[in-house]
Amino acid sequence: MDKERKLIIAGNWKMNKTVAEAHSLVSGLKRELTNIKEVDVVVCPPFTALGEVSKAIIDSNIRLGAQNMSEHNFGAYTGEIAAGMLKEFLVRYVILGHSERRQYQNETDELISKKALTAHVATIKPIVCVGETLQEREGNHTQKVLETQIKGSLAGLSKAQVEETIIAYEPVWAIGTGKTATASQAQEAHAFIRKQIAKLHNETVARKVRIQYGGSVKPSNARELMSLPDVDGALVGGASLEDRSFADIIKNSI
Ligand code: PEP
Repeated sequence: MDKERKLIIAGNWKMNKTVAEAHSLVSGLKRELTNIKEVDVVVCPPFTALGEVSKAIIDSNIRLGAQNMSEHNFGAYTGEIAAGMLKEFLVRYVILGHSERRQYQNETDELISKKALTAHVATIKPIVCVGETLQEREGNHTQKVLETQIKGSLAGLSKAQVEETIIAYEPVWAIGTGKTATASQAQEAHAFIRKQIAKLHNETVARKVRIQYGGSVKPSNARELMSLPDVDGALVGGASLEDRSFADIIKNSI
């Protein structure tokens, strides 16, 4: 598949996999993905499995991501994890502002932008999640929600930092529900997000930013979604928990 930007496909394991299970999953993935160079492949295990997965992928084309991090670098923030701690495990990416964190931990665009800045300073690439709820879509508010989230979550980042930020468009109604955005819904939202980035910075920056689609991506729908002009990869939840299905998403996207 000929794409303007290199595809980036990341697996968000969420709160799944013990250390032993994580090792087994990533070992399977390594076997499945040995010769894949066309796609940047990222796995985001829970914090407790970062060390094991980091060791397992050291000689592979798989890169490591985390699912969250603090906006602070150190100090009295019980239960938080700092960018420097993630760097110890060679973490290259961090998911920020996932809708589950926006919903259950009340994360705001302002907080997400602080975390994104902290990540960039530590040379960890943030994967910033945005997306509307079903109610917002049905109320015709999708564009307003995306505009606000993009502006707020990228506030304070330089042009160069925005270029190195990955956006994940994840309609909340499609996450873990088996419902996927149609090709035209996905393309429309991605093009709109890119337009917002151009408005915040310029066309050159916007053309460089990779925008992933997330929401019930599976081997059977990956090819169509990844072929859309403004879709530059996927953030995959459920289907990333099994080596064969995650590998098939990647293979079907090439
Ligand atoms: C996600 O949580 O980021 C996600 C896209 O989940 P799923 O693929 O299971 O819908």
